[in-house]
Amino acid sequence: MAHVLRMAPALSEKIWGGHRLKDLYNYPIPSNKTGEAWVISGHKNGPSTIVNGEYKGMTLAELFDQHRELFGNIEGKEFPLLIKFIDASDDLSVQVHPDDDYASKYENSLGKTEAWYILDAKQGTDMIVGHHAETKEELKDFIERDDWDGLLNKFPIMKGDFFFIPAGTIHAICAGTLVYEAQQSSDITYRLYDYHRKDDNGQERELHIDQAVAVTKCPAIIGETNAEKEEVYDGYIIHRFVKSDYLSVYRIDVTSKAVIKNNNPFQLLTVIEGHGTINGEEAVKGDNFVICSDVDEVVYEGQLEVMMTTL
Ligand code: ZN
Repeated sequence: MAHVLRMAPALSEKIWGGHRLKDLYNYPIPSNKTGEAWVISGHKNGPSTIVNGEYKGMTLAELFDQHRELFGNIEGKEFPLLIKFIDASDDLSVQVHPDDDYASKYENSLGKTEAWYILDAKQGTDMIVGHHAETKEELKDFIERDDWDGLLNKFPIMKGDFFFIPAGTIHAICAGTLVYEAQQSSDITYRLYDYHRKDDNGQERELHIDQAVAVTKCPAIIGETNAEKEEVYDGYIIHRFVKSDYLSVYRIDVTSKAVIKNNNPFQLLTVIEGHGTINGEEAVKGDNFVICSDVDEVVYEGQLEVMMTTL
């Protein structure tokens, strides 16, 4: 019996969150400040749960521990990837993530390379990726002077844009953005700047300047952006956004039917538009599936836009 696992998201409130995760995907959000849905996650800070089939009720982390054969017998002590939706109704902090070397040494964690596909962006929405400091000294100087306009590389975005953010890249998602995020399974964020915002108790959130300076690459490395290549088949299109050491991200557009071989240890599928079926499972916008390695081919039927992330 080949395994197509339907996943239930773990939702969390954030000071910058909103309610589009309910409006668009009908997720049971805890409040109108819901910032994140961890839709396919083996991470302890937001585990997603299997809701169909023989493993119903188990978390992805438990299944990965007990049945590694369903994941191509890959190595590693934790499920390597994490898929999120992020609803930013306000600006997220300016931040940077460590790479594997730094994270394993200081945080006992994987590093965090991430990739974003913009599901929605209000007119005039910005994104911050990269910076203008040539050296660590220049970086510290910009930070000490509180000169964020001078430091940060900011530009407008549109629905459908894609960004690849290698570890060590300063970035911030800005107000108005709805994102599909594929990343290494890590929750380590070093905050550089939080717009001097205060919480209900009048406190600014903690910053992590020393760690952020230590892990930021200078000069900035620029990941692939909108590096979309299309492979067109009869009745469906595969858009390839990035293929990297950590993760590869695709969008599959189906107009009636597609049959796609599974040559991966697993595939993580997120339906972002339309409705239909995936290997017989009903699939609508917001649904998430893990395709295990015992599935030979994935059969899509209906009208569907699906994000597919794999190693
Ligand atoms: Zn980030």
